[in-house]
Amino acid sequence: IERTLCLIKPDATKRNLIGAILSMIEGKGLTIKALKKLKLTKEQAATFYIVHKERPFYNDLINYMTSGPIVAAILEGENAVKAYRELMGATNPENAEQGTIRKTYALNLEANSVHGSDSPENAAIETAFMFSGLENC
Ligand code: ATP
Ligand code: MG
Repeated sequence: IERTLCLIKPDATKRNLIGAILSMIEGKGLTIKALKKLKLTKEQAATFYIVHKERPFYNDLINYMTSGPIVAAILEGENAVKAYRELMGATNPENAEQGTIRKTYALNLEANSVHGSDSPENAAIETAFMFSGLENC
């Protein structure tokens, strides 16, 4: 059993897609272990995405991720990192498979509705960033 961190990004929260996306996640057999809505500061978003700091899209990404509320969730299941990334679909929704979250809901390469950790190691780091441990989950 494995865990991963899910974020529902501002483009999706603004369009009232939180329930629909969580429903797709539960429909895939992943269990929501912890859940909250929050709004990142510029500093928090910059820290969360620090691995991308040299990428040309970094500043736009920080501005986009702080443009509205997000939802953070800890997901658990068999091979949760890979299973959830498959459910998200390709980063660019134009390349995402039918039935994925991004194919269904994403607007474009930046406003692509969801984030998922890319490894169990990063899932642990990202989860510790978003959740305090008070959840006792
Ligand atoms: P995420 O990390 O959000 O789960 P990902 O792993 O598919 O998505 P990354 O390469 O880690 O994609 O990029 C992080 C995020 O930065 C993307 O989800 C997207 O919102 C944004 N992004 C990535 N590439 C570009 C780009 N070329 N132009 C604009 N935004 C981009
Ligand atoms: Mg990534």
